Amino acid sequence: MGATVFERNPPDPRLVAEALAGSRRSVFWLDGLDRQRFPAFAGSASVDLAVVGGGYTGLWTALLAKERDPSLRVVVLEAKRVGWAASGRNGGFCEATLTHGEVNGENRFPQELEQLDRLGMQNLDEIEQTVARLELDVEFERTGSFAVAVEEYQVEELREAEEGVFFEGAAMRTEIDSPTYLAGLWSPRDTAMLHPGKMAAELARACVEAGVEIFEDTMVRGIDTELPTAPVVLNTPAGFVFAERVALATNAFPSLLKRYRLHTVPVYDYVLMTEPLSTEQLASIGWKGRQGVADTANQFHYYRLTADNRILWGGYDAIYHYGGRIRSGYEERPATFAKLAAHFLTTFPQLAGIRFSHRWAGVIDTSSRFCAFYGLARQGRVAYAAGFTGLGVAATRFAANVMLDQLSGETTERTELDLVRSQPLPFPPEPATYAGVQASRWGLNRADHSDGRRGLLLRTLDAVGLGFDS
Ligand SMILES: Cc1cc2nc3c(=O)[nH]c(=O)nc-3n(C[C@H](O)[C@H](O)[C@H](O)COP(=O)(O)OP(=O)(O)OC[C@H]3O[C@@H](n4cnc5c(N)ncnc54)[C@H](O)[C@@H]3O)c2cc1C
Repeated sequence: MGATVFERNPPDPRLVAEALAGSRRSVFWLDGLDRQRFPAFAGSASVDLAVVGGGYTGLWTALLAKERDPSLRVVVLEAKRVGWAASGRNGGFCEATLTHGEVNGENRFPQELEQLDRLGMQNLDEIEQTVARLELDVEFERTGSFAVAVEEYQVEELREAEEGVFFEGAAMRTEIDSPTYLAGLWSPRDTAMLHPGKMAAELARACVEAGVEIFEDTMVRGIDTELPTAPVVLNTPAGFVFAERVALATNAFPSLLKRYRLHTVPVYDYVLMTEPLSTEQLASIGWKGRQGVADTANQFHYYRLTADNRILWGGYDAIYHYGGRIRSGYEERPATFAKLAAHFLTTFPQLAGIRFSHRWAGVIDTSSRFCAFYGLARQGRVAYAAGFTGLGVAATRFAANVMLDQLSGETTERTELDLVRSQPLPFPPEPATYAGVQASRWGLNRADHSDGRRGLLLRTLDAVGLGFDS
């Protein structure tokens, strides 16, 4: 097997240790963020729509429900704090794709990919319009994104892409300067960068202004729909919510609908944030277009600039724990942070001496088809969307619209999509999932060391539609 560019050109280990030495385990986006605190729910309430989960999916669902019909009583019930989970700790790449990228879309929904691309772009445009209309202070920058080739075999893939602006060799390094870059493909319109923590906080503010009631520290423990004509009963620690309709927006956390418990697995993704770059440091990279960047192997890094010119650097390792366990202790993983820091310094050796100020991790809801799926249960009164697999910043808004369409009982362009009507294969019970994920990770790592060639194991999993990605 060949070595990757990161293994062929490792930095001095002392530089890696020094870069990480002063970092804090804390989510940069939430650190010191000025955001509203909401009360816990107590007593009882009758509502038109109850939304479970206060991340982007839940907040968009509540906001769009109020925009569709301001007379509705809408509540959001959040187990901890609004935006504390994936929505507050992601990379902030707000991407148009609804299928976790073009290749996955071609493989799984070839017959409607054009339509999905159009709907995805429309969704991103509407996010941009909403940010402007409601004056959401979220550092929204429609910069587009760069896919960069760091190995020879990746160059052709980018050259052959049907859309985007292709840069090769020195032309690529004039855009963003890394000795690892062989080529790059800039997609100018399909991605915006935003501040994830502010996005959650500002969506919550917009919800409140629209009349939504938000409750934090309110874990919904169960849903009771025994009586088909009576409201759905949501059981919380200090009372009951009686709802005509319910939208479940609980992402990687165990679904309140048992039948969907095996449709996602929680996967940990790790992130580093540098201190702000000086003018000279930034000039040494270029990056005038401030695009989001991702390299193109199976195990990939994503990185971007913040408003104060730090670099966020995340990805590569995707870690699953036996039994799908979620524990805050799993967010500390020294070997992964050291690997990320080393790969950073291989990519930008001109930044030797830089320090990381923050390190953190978050959980992704991986589905076996790598993009969200939709469920409607309990006589059409409970909708569910999950499975964004690491690409939900924009797609969660589309999912919110799908759930509201479904709960209204109307047929819309969205509800008719195969993407919405079909379901992914569930993951098998343990120990098979753990063994399968480890085998897939081994296969993906092997492919990255073999000019991207997918071995028998990955091809078999591809063929049966059971995959693993982040
Ligand atoms: C490190 C990391 C980097 C990422 N980077 C990107 C990126 O750059 N671009 C991109 O598009 N996507 C990215 N993602 C994915 C993206 O963040 C998610 O797809 C998106 O935030 C999902 O939003 P959500 O509202 O569905 O889930 P979450 O934000 O996880 O919210 C779910 C909420 O439900 C609550 N909840 C769960 N169960 C209950 C219950 N029983 N009762 C009450 N509340 C409950 C939880 O407390 C939580 O707040 C990343 C994810 C991670 C972890």
